[in-house]
Amino acid sequence: MTTADLLQALRAALGDDHVLTAPADMAGYAEDWRKRYRGVPLAVALPGTTEQVASVVRLCRAARAAIVPQGGNTGLVGGAAPDGSGKQIVLSLKRMRRVRALEAADRVLVAEAGCVLAEVQRAAREAGLLFPLSLAAEGSATIGGVLSSNAGGTAVLRYGNARALCLGLEAVTPQGAIWHGLSTLRKDNTGYDLRDLLIGAEGTLGIITAASLMLYPQPAARRTAWVALADVAAAVHLLARARDALDAGLTGFELIGRECLHLVARHFPALRAPLPLDAPWYVLLELSDSEDEAHAQARLEAVLGAALEAGGALDCALAASLAQATAMWQIREHIPLAQAAEGLNIKHDIAVPISRMASFVADTSARLQRMIPDVRLVVFGHLGDGNLHYNLQAPAAADADAFRAQHETACNELLHAAAMAAGGSFSAEHGVGLLKTAELARYKDAAALAMMHAIKRALDPDGLMNPGKILRT
Ligand SMILES: Cc1cc2nc3c(=O)[nH]c(=O)nc-3n(C[C@H](O)[C@H](O)[C@H](O)COP(=O)(O)OP(=O)(O)OC[C@H]3O[C@@H](n4cnc5c(N)ncnc54)[C@H](O)[C@@H]3O)c2cc1C
Repeated sequence: MTTADLLQALRAALGDDHVLTAPADMAGYAEDWRKRYRGVPLAVALPGTTEQVASVVRLCRAARAAIVPQGGNTGLVGGAAPDGSGKQIVLSLKRMRRVRALEAADRVLVAEAGCVLAEVQRAAREAGLLFPLSLAAEGSATIGGVLSSNAGGTAVLRYGNARALCLGLEAVTPQGAIWHGLSTLRKDNTGYDLRDLLIGAEGTLGIITAASLMLYPQPAARRTAWVALADVAAAVHLLARARDALDAGLTGFELIGRECLHLVARHFPALRAPLPLDAPWYVLLELSDSEDEAHAQARLEAVLGAALEAGGALDCALAASLAQATAMWQIREHIPLAQAAEGLNIKHDIAVPISRMASFVADTSARLQRMIPDVRLVVFGHLGDGNLHYNLQAPAAADADAFRAQHETACNELLHAAAMAAGGSFSAEHGVGLLKTAELARYKDAAALAMMHAIKRALDPDGLMNPGKILRT
């Protein structure tokens, strides 16, 4: 099948309006969120149904055209970016955004892959329930995208990551067959777990078209606090104290370095930090309580009071209203946006056992500062999961592009090697995409890597599903 035949067949299958080929129409699909990867797709296909997704896959297969699945295009590792060959088809799930069902008795919601995360949260909320996956890009990230990258976010320490919240999938295989796996069961031990294989596969093994998702009860009350700390060790102690006292009530524990708050203050001056910026570290802590507001308040005050008394915390502010709690979370969520506004930077998404976090940060910060005097360490993240976004911004007066070009490789090597040596990971929640294929080849256990290649070959022998992502071909 020629390229012209493929485009004609795609238009016949989807309708002219749902096959984009003009560069201006495709621009938003051709470049990733961080503007690191800009490709040139042959076309962007926008199917509206699972059957249409299967048709697109079969047509692309006949034409031997590679497919790049795309959701909200908010991924941070280039996984949804087409290459520059002008031959790949971006398959956007954007039109498939229906919540198909919500069954309160089963605590299950079935959503199509293109459903935006915030819409799923809203649908659950309107039914008096909670879909707990939450991240700063939730206004654009889709269910297909969060599952394909096994996203984490701010509530993992209580509810788990995307994988832990998914009961079943509907997907289109690389051969163009539809897999009807939308189970709503908690238990189903019937062979290999294909759901877990597709989750986190970053579109390299098939296309997720819908998912059944677990819902939780809405907490009766939530309390949020902002705590100033002298160092990461104090944050780790506070985490242990909060876990012991609050148990499953602890639903958020985010670490924020002071440099992050300087960037937020510069680019989003309306967002005012609740405490003066005179401490090196801050923690944003959230308690979800199943009783009531007074109970929640008393529990949180007890934890923070004890931490202040013991000298573990320097100062703290408790949100007195929902508006104040929202404002605290907005500061946290604007850190990546403030970093993007400040200019290109070097991002890391490392995981380290919590027990080693304090020495890891102390050691690596000292080494990085020796390597690049005046480098700005923009460190924040999900300390409750042992996951930090350990980012580096150019010194204030330096050119951001030149900084990245000069230092990225050495900084990556330093931090990734240190994380691996500490028993951690070079990619905690963002995935591998294009950005970290070299790290995967270097650090992944050899037997695991061999199994990954074998699975890829078995399911996608022609290598048409998101080639070059995760595994180097
Ligand atoms: C400001 C900001 C904050 C963020 N915070 C977090 C965070 O806290 N935690 C976190 O984990 N991530 C975070 N991210 C990263 C990003 O939001 C997540 O990776 C999200 O899961 C991507 O969803 P998406 O729909 O945008 O996917 P895309 O970017 O479109 O795609 C991501 C990957 O999934 C594949 N894919 C997409 N849809 C499908 C499908 N239907 N079937 C098969 N493959 C598919 C793509 O090919 C690609 O490999 C953040 C991003 C931004 C911009």
